[in-house]
Order: sequence, then structure tokens, then C-alpha cells
Amino acid sequence: MSDEIRIGIIICDRYRACAGGKCLRALNNREGAFSIYEGKAVKLVGYTACGGCPGGNIEYAPEEMKKNGADVIHLATGLVVGYPPCPRVTHFRDFIRAKYGLDVVIGTHPIPQNYYETHTALGTWNSPRWTEIIQPTLADEETRLRYD
Ligand code: SF4
Repeated sequence: MSDEIRIGIIICDRYRACAGGKCLRALNNREGAFSIYEGKAVKLVGYTACGGCPGGNIEYAPEEMKKNGADVIHLATGLVVGYPPCPRVTHFRDFIRAKYGLDVVIGTHPIPQNYYETHTALGTWNSPRWTEIIQPTLADEETRLRYD
């Protein structure tokens, strides 16, 4: 039995062409939502997009990732920082947990500083719900600036 944690990443389809640069850097550095894996071995076993609003691929992609041994699904930071953020993000989290019995973490890489500043100006995250959602990827300003 391996101690390795296997993860899958699902990104927002509006960033479908993303090569995963920030997510993979953060995974390697154990930054943002990946800080929970500090000192642990992690393997990426899946990477895909939600399929576009309303996120049809969420229904099936976790199953494929689970077959590859995924323990945890990360819903990428793009779901949190997009304009507007994904309105379904907590539903996706709850669905994947209920349907597939997988852990789900909202977020991957730290929130980039430029998104942080714009959403702060917009008041996007001024609610207890969003305060909780952004917590894993909030990071400090120095870290956020490195993800601009
Ligand atoms: S906003 Fe949500 S449902 Fe729409 S494309 Fe992005 S992740 Fe998918």
C-alpha cells in the first residue's frame, strides 16, 4: 500500500487551453491549496476541464480519475477567480463527494494578486460563503504576486 496521494484537477472551461503552468508549479512547490501535501508524495492522475457551463464533464470526469486511483479532486483556482467565479463550485464539490466518495478541495494554485485586487474592488468575495471558499488559495501577498 502506497502513501502516495493521487489527485485529479478539473479546470473551468473558459481556461480550457491552459497548459496547467500555475497549477503544476504550485503542486511542485506545495503552495496554495496544495500546501496540505507538504512533506507528502503526490501524483497527478488526471487533468481536464469542466466541459463548459453548466459543467457537464463534472458528472463523468471524476469517475475516470477514480479509476486511475485518484483520492482527491481539486477544482482549480480558475473557478474561484474567473469573472464571474463559477456559481456552481460548491455544488460540484458536494456532487463529487456524494457520487464518487472522493475528497474534494476547492482550489489549486494561489490566487494571483491581480485577480485578488479586482475581486476585492468588486466585493465578489464579501460573504461568509466566499470567505470560506477562497481560504485554501488566498496565500500571502508575496506569494500571490509570484502567480500574477
Ligand atoms: S463557470 Fe463553472 S460551469 Fe461554467 S465553465 Fe467555468 S467551471 Fe464550468
